[in-house]
Amino acid sequence: MAKKEDSQKLCPVSARCGGCKWINIGYKEQLEAKSTRFRRLMEPFCRPEPIIAMEEPTHYRNKVHAAFGEDRRHNAISGIYEEKSHRIVPVDSCLIENQKADQIIVSIRGLLKSFKIRPYHEDTGYGLLRHVLVRTGHATGQIMVVLVLGSPIMPSKNNFVKALLKLHPEITTIVVNVNDRDTSMVLGEKQQVIYGKGYIEDELCGRTFRISPKSFYQINPVQTEKLYHKAMEYAGLTGKETVLDAYCGTGTIGMIASARAGEVMGVELNKDAVRDAVSNAKRNGISNIRFYQHDAGDFLLEMAQQGAKLDLLFMDPPRSGSSEAFLNAAGKIAPKRIVYISCNPETLVRDLKILAKKGYQVKRCAAVDMFPFTESVEAVCLLSNT
Ligand code: SAH
Repeated sequence: MAKKEDSQKLCPVSARCGGCKWINIGYKEQLEAKSTRFRRLMEPFCRPEPIIAMEEPTHYRNKVHAAFGEDRRHNAISGIYEEKSHRIVPVDSCLIENQKADQIIVSIRGLLKSFKIRPYHEDTGYGLLRHVLVRTGHATGQIMVVLVLGSPIMPSKNNFVKALLKLHPEITTIVVNVNDRDTSMVLGEKQQVIYGKGYIEDELCGRTFRISPKSFYQINPVQTEKLYHKAMEYAGLTGKETVLDAYCGTGTIGMIASARAGEVMGVELNKDAVRDAVSNAKRNGISNIRFYQHDAGDFLLEMAQQGAKLDLLFMDPPRSGSSEAFLNAAGKIAPKRIVYISCNPETLVRDLKILAKKGYQVKRCAAVDMFPFTESVEAVCLLSNT
């Protein structure tokens, strides 16, 4: 392990930011640590395949968020909140973030003074600019900038857009989002597109996906392709199956599977993501997929009550894992195979124990390094009840 001074050289704010806790650990060692942790957790179920590593494990984050504020001399600062606080640690460039996105954020900060835009002050409610969110399409090069304001009126909006585009003609869309609440959520309800289409597109496994400001989209596209390839390999579809993509986000997994399935359903709670999913299916000319905006547990329960048949279940729940209601319903419908994708191996293991009681054994599993320089481990498992 390298010394603390080394990590300071790689990033001067690493100790205060906490975004890449493993900055001072070599990549090989990181992979070994993740593999060991995953192997131990999976011990009761299955021996994992080798961890799927990233070839160039830096600057992978396609979504970059900067909080805006002022220093004591009232100069605008931008960066990341210090862990467990609302103090801003200034960040101009970051080892794991998309470099172009970082540059755009610095440029926006540089423009504020001449446009008399003050960063928003959380305690007093004075000022305007709260956050900037930049999302980039890895394969398409498209870039979305979301300016999160504390109030809906942005003075000299058009000139600001012009000035920003002059510095960064690569920006393809700019959205103003209004967040006037006292909240730790970055984005508010109201939104206005002030340049371009209001969304970007990216490509994964030969499909095109539209991404709105609020839609979930995996933050490491290079590794996501590898994760999805593994998931498809585990799924072993033959072209006839009825498939459910649960917790489907913008429909990525279901749409990739659709070419090798009879019929696909996707279920997702977030309505923006479902809207993106529907338009993604159209955009890709996919006609054997339907999306439903529902709680995945309720949806599956209803399917079970109606005696619906399912050959394969993909499930990719959030960090908190799935729910008992969902897992019970899955047990009732009893698809032959389940491909479980997880960004939190602890909740994965909890859910695997419940599924084991319903007759499901883990046949294969692998960790995928989606988040180099952090402790996070992404995992994919194949379960079968035969
Ligand atoms: N499979 C997608 C998204 C996975 S992230 C992809 O790979 O891109 C998990 C998703 O679950 C998020 O989109 C979140 O909005 C959704 N979600 C969270 N709780 C849910 C619930 N109870 N029912 C359905 N979807 C839920």
